Amino acid sequence: MRIAMISEHASPLAVLGGEDAGGQNTHVAELSAALVAAGHDVRVYTRQDAVDLPVTVRSPDGYDVLHVPAGPAEPLAKDALLPHMAPFSRWLADRWRGGDWVPEVVHAHFWMSGLAALTAARQVGVPVVQTYHALGTVKRRYQGVQDTSPARRVAYERELGRSVDRVIAQCSDEVGELVRLGVPRSRMTVIPSGVNLGTFAPLGPAAEIDPDRPRVLTVGRLVERKGFQTVIRAMELVPDAECVVVGGPPAGLLESDPYARRLRALAGSCGVADRVRLVGAVPREEMGRWYRSADVLVAAPWYEPFGLTPLEAMACGIPVVGTAVGGIRDTVVDGVTGDLVPARDPRALGEAIDRLLTDRIRRFAYATAALERARRCYSWATAAERLAEVYHEVATVRRPTRVVA
Ligand code: UDP
Repeated sequence: MRIAMISEHASPLAVLGGEDAGGQNTHVAELSAALVAAGHDVRVYTRQDAVDLPVTVRSPDGYDVLHVPAGPAEPLAKDALLPHMAPFSRWLADRWRGGDWVPEVVHAHFWMSGLAALTAARQVGVPVVQTYHALGTVKRRYQGVQDTSPARRVAYERELGRSVDRVIAQCSDEVGELVRLGVPRSRMTVIPSGVNLGTFAPLGPAAEIDPDRPRVLTVGRLVERKGFQTVIRAMELVPDAECVVVGGPPAGLLESDPYARRLRALAGSCGVADRVRLVGAVPREEMGRWYRSADVLVAAPWYEPFGLTPLEAMACGIPVVGTAVGGIRDTVVDGVTGDLVPARDPRALGEAIDRLLTDRIRRFAYATAALERARRCYSWATAAERLAEVYHEVATVRRPTRVVA
């Protein structure tokens, strides 16, 4: 099939770890690659955020990335992108109406992509599949006044869910959130993200191991809701272990990053500064080395729409201690592949990490079960196959074309 992926702020070619570059970029990249491997023709449309970007770039995995001119050709925070979705959508509609390559299905990632996709796709009579990746209701609940999303985000998300041809929920928690938002259950299909089982595997080199200290690894964009403060506080209860934090700006810029400085100050006040190490952003192809170097992967977000990092660790045969939120409740089986603890509870987290680090047999059992689960349930090939079924289903429904002025 000809498949158009719309990912307005998250380019599959981006360097990850920065404030707005994380799971969605990986998801779009891996899914597109898996669909190409299954014989589909995939184009990814993302906003042009630098002047020197060619319109089309062929990724090494065989899909094209098209840089859509919409707003200034410079990086913008994703919460500032809404006004640029109208030109984004017009550009798509013009290309597709021009007729050289018309998609059979459009898959939008994140709500703003959904708006652009729906407006453009309806003009050429093409179905739209929506993955939210994150929901405004959840963000508002946990971030309160710190949530800088556009005011009408939640209303748009509700409307999108009722208008697109299919909503892909990534976990059972998201299904509940969407139903409460007012999206009919009958419009949803649950297909979790996958994990690249080639990149993330138990065998291979490991990064900078200290033979005298067990390693607690935690990975993610350096933003508050990822719970790094909880992990650092928890380290007080995990004597002798080191805590490695991967993510954020590149290592050279960590000194000037306000949140990184806060984490370092917190480590100092908790008396664990000599055991906490921030390494900054790591290229995606090197992430496996960091997971393999760990004795346990800790994921302690306040909330998590899906959460790729626990799954990547599991695929490397690393047990996970995670907070019982969002997608982590589906990927980590409590007491089998890892331990789940309440969010924002450094004591519960510290005790769980310490118990695992001091119990080699439990660690081995979790690691084995984690690897098995990642391989059996979460390959990208499986996710792509299930999505292709959805694309076929929605594409066989005839729909009128509607020109929007
Ligand atoms: N990641 C990376 N380098 C970094 C930090 C993170 O490649 O320095 C990747 C990580 O391996 C994962 C993604 O970024 O694939 C983060 O996804 P997750 O779902 O955990 O969080 P999100 O950023 O979507 O909130």
